Amino acid sequence: MMPKPTLSKNVRKRISPDDVQALSLVQLAYVRKYNRRSVKAVKDEYIFELFFQLGIDKNDLIACNFPKTRNLQVDEIIKKIPKGEVKTGTIDSYFIRVTQYLKNQQVYNENRRNINSYDLTLSHRTYFLRCPNCGKSFENIAKYWVAARVNILEDANYQGEYSIVCAECKGA
Ligand SMILES: [Zn+2]
Repeated sequence: MMPKPTLSKNVRKRISPDDVQALSLVQLAYVRKYNRRSVKAVKDEYIFELFFQLGIDKNDLIACNFPKTRNLQVDEIIKKIPKGEVKTGTIDSYFIRVTQYLKNQQVYNENRRNINSYDLTLSHRTYFLRCPNCGKSFENIAKYWVAARVNILEDANYQGEYSIVCAECKGA
């Protein structure tokens, strides 16, 4: 089943604003380093990127089989996993391990609870930007974005400003 765009709205209702925290850029970098530590850790990467890229709820990750998501980064990972299904215990174990890793690297508050799926849903909303031209969402990584000059066809001398648009539509 494909994740529906309404999911994030449902998730939002269940988020307690005092407790949920988006990952910082540094934490995000460490998490990805951890997820890519070996080819065998691909399930860690799968769990993290499904939450982070799609902003889905934990129940949706468990209940849904994701043969394809139309998110390039996630679909690349799905290809490496024969069967995508994940159990609650696998997700919990991942969150315990990755939180401990961040604490060991001294980039995560020692006294804070383990990272959970709500933190990643909030991280998704923090780091994903919607292209003002085509409306698709991409992570705030430079390679996904370009600066496109807005020109006026009737006036070749007019030099428009550069706007930030996604690298997929390039403002076209
Ligand atoms: Zn676009």
